[in-house]
Amino acid sequence: MPGLSLTERLGIHRSILSNQALLLAATLLLVVSASLLGQVRNAPLFTVSVTVIFGGAVFAILAPWRALPAWALGLVPVIDMVAIAVLRESAPLAGVGLLWAFPAIWIGSTFGVGGVVAVLVGVSAIVTFQLVHDAEQRLTSSTFVLPFTVVALSALAHTTARRARAQRALLEKQSADLRRSADRARRQEDLVTEVLDAVDFGVIRVTPEGDLAVTNEAHARLQATVDVLGAPIAAYAADGTTPVPAEATPLSRARAGELFEGELVWFGAPGEDRRALSVTARRLPSGSDADPGTIVVSRDVTAEEQALRARDDLVASVSHELRTPLTSIIGYLDLALDDPAIIAETRERLEVAERNATRLRELVSDILSMSAASRHGAEFDLVPTDTDIAAIVRAAIESQQPRAADHGIRIDSSGLRDGSAHVDPRRLRQVVDNLISNAIKYNVRGGTVTVAVDVSETAVQIAVADDGPGISRTEQGRVFDRFFRGDAVRNSSTHGSGLGLAISRDIVRAHGGEITVSSALGTGATFIVRLPRTQGSTP
Ligand code: ADP
Repeated sequence: MPGLSLTERLGIHRSILSNQALLLAATLLLVVSASLLGQVRNAPLFTVSVTVIFGGAVFAILAPWRALPAWALGLVPVIDMVAIAVLRESAPLAGVGLLWAFPAIWIGSTFGVGGVVAVLVGVSAIVTFQLVHDAEQRLTSSTFVLPFTVVALSALAHTTARRARAQRALLEKQSADLRRSADRARRQEDLVTEVLDAVDFGVIRVTPEGDLAVTNEAHARLQATVDVLGAPIAAYAADGTTPVPAEATPLSRARAGELFEGELVWFGAPGEDRRALSVTARRLPSGSDADPGTIVVSRDVTAEEQALRARDDLVASVSHELRTPLTSIIGYLDLALDDPAIIAETRERLEVAERNATRLRELVSDILSMSAASRHGAEFDLVPTDTDIAAIVRAAIESQQPRAADHGIRIDSSGLRDGSAHVDPRRLRQVVDNLISNAIKYNVRGGTVTVAVDVSETAVQIAVADDGPGISRTEQGRVFDRFFRGDAVRNSSTHGSGLGLAISRDIVRAHGGEITVSSALGTGATFIVRLPRTQGSTP
């Protein structure tokens, strides 16, 4: 049956088997009943036709239908039809005609409308022929009902087979669609895996239960907890020296459901070949009801971290080397200034040299205090006393007045409220000096710097505002970083170390306070320092 699909062939084979098995059973019943009731008129003819029906049925059951051509399907039912006609002839009273139902059903289901019409014509012709030529065949209601019933069964078989075929075709189409969709999903999954494997940062999905669902090659490489020899690799905190137990590594914490951004962790002991990872754990957005879990991204930042450390070490050692000769220079300048014999002009020059040397020593001290020894913030020895805040601010304004005048800048100090707080006056002055100095330095010619002090029951607030070019939103987040200098000033002639604000923030925080900035490009910047009035209270 070439041209038919495998499932169609299997379906036809099955229906042939059951059809012929039923025909065999019905024929057997007829043989027994007709013999017992003595209805066999012509025994040889009866035997021949029964044998043909049996032979046909056995052939139909055993035939390799899958390999036979389509027309072969019609041969057995046609032979059956003729054999049943002959059987009817040999035993006219045995009601043999009903057996036509079996080949009629076969023909109807296999050859469609054409088959049904053929059954109608064939059965009507045989019945009419036998009615005319056989005296024992009489015109009764069964003369009409029999062909009608046989044809109706054939038509019924045709519609049932057609519906089954349509359903099968639909099912096959749906399963093909499903296969295609599954293939596409698998291809996409492969593509995502390939893309993930191609990137050099580790990606891992952690299920809500804490299992690892998707990992890429880089992840396996970066987060390896054993070396090539299988020895465990110890983890260390951001400072590179504090050991981190296995259950407290970023990945373990992410598996326990914790979320974090840019956690720094070192793998490998200090002094050994080690790597630094910046690990971020974020909740995955849930498209449906199911919680997709967390995504953990790890980036190798060894080179960056080592460069930062190298810079810190260099800055620290250079500053350290500078401090000793500077102390000696200042000492000798002081000695020279103590000499009453020097003339006024020389004294003036020596004083300028001493001022600049002192400024240089302060700068060197600042750099030292911010370098390698305290990477995450300078430590200060505070000497807090009850301090008049407005007086400190006023003194700072006074000292900056000449510079402001040089730049044509006016300092508005009308908003200074009186009030005291328990702070280190020298350190607070350093902060205010730095803010006012920046407000002048980064202002436009003819601009204004507004300094205000506000005092409440628990806190004191110092605000320094300018109407200069301001700070962009991205830079606002970085102005308190060590060595940060804005894009606009880095390439200009404005000098600076990028440490002033970092030191100011450390000083303010050491007091239990906070410093913030608000700015919009083109409208100036406002720095606000909030400090608790008494030690231990919150501002
Ligand atoms: P420095 O002034 O030595 O560069 P700071 O830490 O004091 O270092 O300031 C860091 C950076 O912040 C500056 O380089 C500048 O880009 C920016 N900045 C600070 N204050 C202001 C201000 N008032 N207006 C605009 N930019 C500012």
